[in-house]
Amino acid sequence: MTTLLPKRLSELEWINRFARLGAPFSTPLSTTAVPEPKWLAVSHELARSLGLDPQWMEEPGVLEALSGCGRLSGSEPSASVYSGHQFGVWAGQLGDGRAHYLGEVVTPMGPVELQLKGSGPTPYSRRGDGRAVLRSTVREFLCSEAMAGLGIPTTRALCMVSSPLAVYREERETAAVLTRVSPSFIRFGHFEHFASTQDREALRRLTQFVLDLNQEALKAHLNSVPLEDLSFEEQCLAFLELTAKRYAQLMSQWQGVGFCHGVMNTDNMSILGLTIDYGPFQFMDAFDPQHICNHSDHQGRYRYDQQPQVAYWNLFCLGQAFASLVDETDKIVEALSTFKTHLPQAIEELYSSKLGLLNTQSSDQEERSGGALAQEVLKCLAQNQVDHSIFWRQLSEAVKAYPQHDKAAFKPVGDLFLDPEGFQAWLGTYLDRLKSEDAAQSAKHMLGSNPKFILRNHLCETAIQAAKLGDNSQVMVLLKLLEKPFDEHPGFESYADHPPHWAQSISISCSS
Ligand code: AMP
Ligand code: MG
Repeated sequence: MTTLLPKRLSELEWINRFARLGAPFSTPLSTTAVPEPKWLAVSHELARSLGLDPQWMEEPGVLEALSGCGRLSGSEPSASVYSGHQFGVWAGQLGDGRAHYLGEVVTPMGPVELQLKGSGPTPYSRRGDGRAVLRSTVREFLCSEAMAGLGIPTTRALCMVSSPLAVYREERETAAVLTRVSPSFIRFGHFEHFASTQDREALRRLTQFVLDLNQEALKAHLNSVPLEDLSFEEQCLAFLELTAKRYAQLMSQWQGVGFCHGVMNTDNMSILGLTIDYGPFQFMDAFDPQHICNHSDHQGRYRYDQQPQVAYWNLFCLGQAFASLVDETDKIVEALSTFKTHLPQAIEELYSSKLGLLNTQSSDQEERSGGALAQEVLKCLAQNQVDHSIFWRQLSEAVKAYPQHDKAAFKPVGDLFLDPEGFQAWLGTYLDRLKSEDAAQSAKHMLGSNPKFILRNHLCETAIQAAKLGDNSQVMVLLKLLEKPFDEHPGFESYADHPPHWAQSISISCSS
């Protein structure tokens, strides 16, 4: 039996189920060392959740192993192959070009895979150097943990190691290695790969592997119908439905915090519906539904308001990959259409929550439902270029100050709008609807739904500049705030402020 006492990394039990699948899914291979590895940052909260003891980083060999300079006993480093559609076009074989699976460990969070990113070339590096720059590593580290703090499904980041190794992108930068954690790093692209090579046997084995990983979730999805009662085909369809549902949920959550992923290629779509592969992402400042965060996305394919539609498109790529396993393609289409039915529901729940509308009995009038009210006010936000997160947080504060029913509580919110007329009209309808709520309860709920702290580009940029000079204090401050983004954190108000003017000049591209 596994004990739950804090452990050293070397004491974890390694089960490495993905590595056991062997060829053709992954290739065993060693990581490539970086010179002079140094700890850059650690998520102590995640380490605790993994059951690691507070001194786990000091164990001999751990820094070496998590920088790719050594190997943990029990791990079986490998890289996996996948393919994918990039920017709507079939890109053929891709694969872990700069990531190494270390293996899977048993933890109090359940079994999780550990993966290094930036740990050297693999057979799938194509012309890449197998490295990740410090800049993009800090961004992925912070955003993974920020999403977890927001309660949004994501792969996690345990720690980062820096190295003076020169890495060339648009300019000379230096390398870093990230340790990522997830129940699985399998992507839609893994399925697309074996569908494209017409290796039906591999596709079937991969599917069975993922069905096994999702036993519990599938059982819940099927309302306790025993999986054994379903044929393999029926299980595949149930899994596609579950995946569609997870993506409807995920897309609504991204929209709710103004998150743009930036590069929703099918090789960046987790089979578990987790946010994965943080590259040119951005949490929006001023609300603009057509915001494009990735400067390499010239057509705006992955702009903010397109994300749900793109997720649905990507689900169809996954569905197509399943076509050789499920005879009737219309059943696949039907399973994936769960996305379409679930998305409006998820959006409605999301905005009801952001608006503190908990008494669903009274949402009988459609124009006063959470979703409808949100769409109206979001239009005003866009017209006035109001900051998305600050608006929602201030609205929550105002509702908190409202139990005395003094409309003056909403003055700071109105002040966010250059032309407040539209907002004032909306406020009338909203306050009318709020009458059927316990405002104190609503406020409490809103303050737990509308984060005070988000990972704005400029905050990340400042932390990166300091980290480049060997100072990780800003990274650690941001980590602390973002792990608990709904808390007040007195003394750190400036991190919740409007972005400075220079934030607009930050250009984020695919270069990482
Ligand atoms: P991304 O745009 O980061 O999702 O990467 C797309 C593909 O390119 C994936 O297969 C990556 O592993 C690979 N890749 C990206 N950067 C590098 C690099 N520096 N070296 C090797 N492969 C890379
Ligand atoms: Mg990727």
